[in-house]
Amino acid sequence: MVRIYLVPLTATGFLEYVDTISSLVEDSFTSAGVRLETYNWPEVVKPSLKCYDWGRMQYIASCVVEELYKKTSTLDPEGYSLGVGMLDAYEPGLNFVFGLAVPAKKTAAVFTKRLREEYYGKPARYDLYVERVAKEVTHELGHLLGLQHCGDRKCVMSFSNNVVEVDYKSRFFCEKCAVALKTMASHYMSRTK
Ligand SMILES: [Zn+2]
Ligand SMILES: [Zn+2]
Repeated sequence: MVRIYLVPLTATGFLEYVDTISSLVEDSFTSAGVRLETYNWPEVVKPSLKCYDWGRMQYIASCVVEELYKKTSTLDPEGYSLGVGMLDAYEPGLNFVFGLAVPAKKTAAVFTKRLREEYYGKPARYDLYVERVAKEVTHELGHLLGLQHCGDRKCVMSFSNNVVEVDYKSRFFCEKCAVALKTMASHYMSRTK
């Protein structure tokens, strides 16, 4: 069993849907033969303004992940932490990122502002939003467990540049990624109790 801590980075945009999202994510991993145990972090862990770029009005993704790591890693060194917030973030060289995973720190974050239909001037669609967040959370957890990007556009590990690509991919791992994931998860489990 792989332990995952889901941490809200903002008071809205995740907490309302956390149970639906975690069951979708668990289902994606179960379909690949890997059992996840997800826990909801009991409080909002807001990124500090140190991580905010006022010029771009975006958070710096790696700074958010580093802060999250410092705040959550002491509880369970063998567990993985994944923050989700309705924020916009970037990494140097990229206009924006939907998420970022730092496997060496067992910590990742997903930024959902651009996963909302409202961002593109369209009416809100909560079903679509929840599905997109679940895909990106599954994707970043895949990275945390050691997966790279996948060339199969339907695979959840394919890289998405925009929401059209997020919608095109499924929330499931392709055969190849599922096999790799199972191997990596069994290594993880042999190291932990
Ligand atoms: Zn990725
Ligand atoms: Zn794949």
